Amino acid sequence: MNCYDCHATEKADTSAVAMCHCCGSGLCPDHLRMIRPVVHRLNGMGVAHGPALARQLLCVTCHAAQATGLPAA
Ligand SMILES: [Zn+2]
Ligand SMILES: [Zn+2]
Repeated sequence: MNCYDCHATEKADTSAVAMCHCCGSGLCPDHLRMIRPVVHRLNGMGVAHGPALARQLLCVTCHAAQATGLPAA
């Protein structure tokens, strides 16, 4: 798979190293963005946070659309 953003913006075929968690596009190292969301899970009567932050790899577009409010990588 090749990087979608490289293909769309630069007409370049760059090998992808990851996929966007949101839209599924291929991402090269220059175009991927990583966020570390807190995982919420049910715990008895309340909601607890997991002991470790998860990892999500997003494209630039999806990162800009949904990363607001989440801790940066
Ligand atoms: Zn790229
Ligand atoms: Zn995306």
